[in-house]
Amino acid sequence: MPFCISHRKYLRQLYAAPCFVLLVACVVEPTTSDAQSLQTLPANTTPAKVAPAVPIAEHLDAQPVRTFEQWRADFRKQALAAGIEPDLFDRVFADISPDMNVLRADRSQPEFSRPVWEYLDGALSELRVRRGQVLLSQYADTLTAIEQRYGVDRRAVVAFWGLESNFGSFQGNKSVIRSLATLGYEGRRERFANEQLLAALQILQQGDITPEKMLGSWAGAMGQTQFIPTTYNTLAVDFDGDGRRDIWGTPADALASIAHYLQISGWRKDQPWGFEVELPDNFDYLLADGTVRKSVAEWRQLGVKLPNGASVAPGTDPLSAALLLPAGHRGPGFLVLDNFQAAVRYNNSSSYALAANLLSERFAGAGLIIRDWPKDEVPLKRSERMELQNLLSQNNFAVGNADGIIGTATRKAIRAAQLSFGWPADGYPTLQLLETLRNR
Ligand code: CA
Repeated sequence: MPFCISHRKYLRQLYAAPCFVLLVACVVEPTTSDAQSLQTLPANTTPAKVAPAVPIAEHLDAQPVRTFEQWRADFRKQALAAGIEPDLFDRVFADISPDMNVLRADRSQPEFSRPVWEYLDGALSELRVRRGQVLLSQYADTLTAIEQRYGVDRRAVVAFWGLESNFGSFQGNKSVIRSLATLGYEGRRERFANEQLLAALQILQQGDITPEKMLGSWAGAMGQTQFIPTTYNTLAVDFDGDGRRDIWGTPADALASIAHYLQISGWRKDQPWGFEVELPDNFDYLLADGTVRKSVAEWRQLGVKLPNGASVAPGTDPLSAALLLPAGHRGPGFLVLDNFQAAVRYNNSSSYALAANLLSERFAGAGLIIRDWPKDEVPLKRSERMELQNLLSQNNFAVGNADGIIGTATRKAIRAAQLSFGWPADGYPTLQLLETLRNR
């Protein structure tokens, strides 16, 4: 995530569970009420950007007990033991000091979040669609070769490129080494940051990039693909054959690296990512949960159908799908398949995955959503989400910690409360629910 890197994203990653918080500054970042979580990262897949779970609030006032120089000396031993050459380490760290802007970004917890439809408006802007169409034409030959090697649709590859870095134009302008050193020194996620920093040093030692050009987001997501260093080491590709995996300055390498990531994440060639659906009256909204997967045929037997009487594509019926309601039962619904899950593995957010797949369709003049979004619903603020969690707990709907994050436990509690009121149990947090609980 570029200049507008959101701490939200990083938080979302840190919590591993989906936190339905969104960032706002950047179109590329998913926003608030981030639909449901549909993903479970497979143990053998290197996430593009997922970091370990560390609660943030309890550490807000903590100060490192070591000096930066002490931390650097400790980390130097670790790096050398892992095979980093002393000369390289000392050269790279010669002028590195902690970056307070990284700490500020890391500690920020925005009060407001953005509705999914506003996020999609930015992610799927006409400007982005047109730019993608131009680039699909400009890189047609490269994309043909990438499709043949990785089996990932060219429009999807370009869509991820567009969301991650606005087609390479917003990669972030922070030194990856300095950002990760700051996060490692500061201590709250030392283990994650040190692991990434070590991987970044390995990249420099391989000669893929120079320290000065190794730029990225404050959280260490690098280049046109926004890969964290460990993901880079596992999956980045030298597609133009010059001997360097250059995800910063070589579009062919960046595009092939995205395709490789999606291939490893389970992308299925020639399968749909999903499609918008209509639900019948009296639908059981407990089924709209990422953990509930059924074949498309089974969903159809439950009355789920395509809008305007359309039919599913031949061969789709046996495929496994989950039902996604990004804005609850009053908004559009989608059946999402394996390629949607691959997108979630790129960036752990169902709003992001929806945006990426719709953008790939927009390049071909499709991907329009038919049902209206419930734009009269204002997303709950962080303080309101915490209040909702506390009120749910007081009413014996267990949510765990009231941390303002609508995760699995909170969603389950919301569904239980909705059922007790005789409402559709979509698990979606609304002002109506908050006010109803306030007045009990
Ligand atoms: Ca290359």
